[in-house]
Amino acid sequence: MIQKKLNDELLSHIRHEFEANIGEVRESVARIESKLDELIRYTIQQKWATLDACAEHPAKKSVRCRICGYAAPASDYKTVESRCIFNGGVLIRYICPQCGAIFGPSKMLDLTPSELDQEYRIHYSVYREGDSTEKELRAFHSLKPIPEGKYLIYGCGEWSETISILRSQGYDVEGFDLYVEPKNHVITDLNVLRQRQYDGIMTHNLLEHLTDPVDTILLLRGLLSGPRALMAHSTPCYEYSFEFTRFHLFFFTDSSVDVICKKCGLKVESADRDPAIDYINYVFSITEKDCMNRMHTMHNCRIADEKGAKVIAAYPGGIIYGPYISLLSGSYTLELICEFAGEPCSATLSITKDKGQLIETHALQNGLNTINFNLDQYSRDVEFVIRNENLDYFKLKSIVLKR
Ligand SMILES: [Zn+2]
Repeated sequence: MIQKKLNDELLSHIRHEFEANIGEVRESVARIESKLDELIRYTIQQKWATLDACAEHPAKKSVRCRICGYAAPASDYKTVESRCIFNGGVLIRYICPQCGAIFGPSKMLDLTPSELDQEYRIHYSVYREGDSTEKELRAFHSLKPIPEGKYLIYGCGEWSETISILRSQGYDVEGFDLYVEPKNHVITDLNVLRQRQYDGIMTHNLLEHLTDPVDTILLLRGLLSGPRALMAHSTPCYEYSFEFTRFHLFFFTDSSVDVICKKCGLKVESADRDPAIDYINYVFSITEKDCMNRMHTMHNCRIADEKGAKVIAAYPGGIIYGPYISLLSGSYTLELICEFAGEPCSATLSITKDKGQLIETHALQNGLNTINFNLDQYSRDVEFVIRNENLDYFKLKSIVLKR
């Protein structure tokens, strides 16, 4: 009994001592972390102050707008100036006289991908992004999502709950981000992403960070399943605002959105502006889906290159099929350009869905064929099957889906 009491007292003493000490250790670690943060912020500030002090602004340096391609000596551009609140020094940006986009600073745009990557890593070791779940959910719903569809949040980051919330609500959503740890429903490999097709894609606070937004929009465009799929890009930088960070490289002002649409084959479906919460979201659709690169061949066929364009030749008995895409309900127009030797043509096109369920069949003509069809519900594995029943060759020169 006495021994147990002594043991208990001893244990309680040890626990007490441990708790007193661990508190001190924690305080000590917090002090070191805070000093380290201060040191990193100071280093960032010194780096950019030094670079700014040494920077030359050669008036003759050629500056190119990566939105519209306009190029001219730096002195031909009007500029706007700001200061980076994250210790990044002076921010001088150019106003494109052709499309009106505001871009820069050059000191960030000219970094190599690995230098820019390092900038972000160091920045995020001392600064955190706020939780943007609410705005991301609003942008997601602008895609008019349906439970059967497949959706992507490109550049999903690690700070928001959006993917888990949407998945718990029954939406099939996955994220893509090169800079996060691989986990369920988040792709971190660009080659894996390129194999996917989506009914809706969104980004939030991403476009303004890209060194070549048009390039990324073209990539995402190619991932949209069909001409009724939507793409939403939400960012306050459709205006010259939130300019106080060196990480914002583009402001999509003036006619720059129109230029992007023209370059990328997009159409603005809607825009949502809510100044109270600095929310601006544009929803885009593709004007047409080029299916040629998703067409395959069977039996007697050959894929050729004619003046840089893919052409598929089917010899007697040959079958051309694809693109295996999911399509939202609605009416569609399929345009095919065909060429064949000998008359009459007896090549046929069958439109199928859900692993071969026939929708309709058409006889193909020489030249442009315009075929309208309707899907009364969301359809998976939509396929166009072309059979060459001629005695001579048949060439498919282009196959484009519109709405
Ligand atoms: Zn421009």
